Amino acid sequence: MKAARIVKPKEPLQIEDLPVPRPRGKQVLVRVLASGVCHSDLHLWEGGYAGPRDMFMRVEDRGVRFPLTPGHEVAGIVEEVGDEVVNTGKGEKVLVYPWIGDGACPACTVGEENLCDRPRSLGIFQDGGYAEYILVPSERYLIKIDGQEPEQVASLACSGLTAYTALKNSSIRAQEFLVIVGAGGLGLIGVQIARAIAGSTIAVIDLDDKRLEEARRLGADHIINSSRSDPVKEVKDLTNGLGADAVIDFVNSSKTVAKDLDMLRKRGRLVLVGLFGGSTELNLALMPLRAYRIIGSYTGKYADLVELVALARRGMIRSVIGKRFRLEEVNDALTQLKEGKIMGRAVLNP
Ligand SMILES: [Zn+2]
Ligand SMILES: [Zn+2]
Repeated sequence: MKAARIVKPKEPLQIEDLPVPRPRGKQVLVRVLASGVCHSDLHLWEGGYAGPRDMFMRVEDRGVRFPLTPGHEVAGIVEEVGDEVVNTGKGEKVLVYPWIGDGACPACTVGEENLCDRPRSLGIFQDGGYAEYILVPSERYLIKIDGQEPEQVASLACSGLTAYTALKNSSIRAQEFLVIVGAGGLGLIGVQIARAIAGSTIAVIDLDDKRLEEARRLGADHIINSSRSDPVKEVKDLTNGLGADAVIDFVNSSKTVAKDLDMLRKRGRLVLVGLFGGSTELNLALMPLRAYRIIGSYTGKYADLVELVALARRGMIRSVIGKRFRLEEVNDALTQLKEGKIMGRAVLNP
């Protein structure tokens, strides 16, 4: 089978011809129909993240090994199952839950495998979906998607689930004022999910008018271009000088977070999601005086992905598909994503 692999960070991905894996025991082999191209794939490709004071946090120090087939937003069709698989059969359309853990740590035992102490996520710590086939360790990581478009549901496994979990972590309620920072793939799906589950007022901040218009079309009540106006002042003006009840930052850079804290109301929640990286200075006395909460949010659990797929089935959220690429065009896809040329999601169709 063909697989697009990172052999070495920063070098072009290579299309390799690998043997098709044979599923054994509980394993399921899925033929990939759609594989989302995610920003975190760029971090894998670059070999790490920006840390504080220009430090670089290498993915290899977090347990990533190359060569690696990336791809953690995978929808496809079951090709073959191991002899211990009971409820899944050849030909079924499925979405793959990629945030696999060891099944044994405290997080895994409460169903939060995405926060496992020894993560084994597909497309990060083991081979993922930039390939014609993907081997999934167990059918309990599959969600049936009969009647739903593989391209539409693929990105729910990462950007959709991440946005959904961030919304839950923000504890946002109807009547409250929510700010979403960043109208990329995550932010645009975040707006729709906020519309579907929260009923709050939504303001979206970005630097790009096109993205902001898309956010408005998908349900944002207010859009703010932070290259032209001060987002803190805009949010204060919209909230009678009080500030936002919650800010979800899908960028999460030194620049955005400094503003986030200034636009929060007392008792406000700041949910940090993006992996842009950097560092920030905290006004420590203000933390207790204004009773802020800062919450880190990373992907989401299997049970929430099941809920999200159900929301999508009812038409309440739709992924914005930006561009489609063949597997051979993978380097082009990643480069365009890096340069910000893709609005919505880039999808590989192996
Ligand atoms: Zn992702
Ligand atoms: Zn675990």
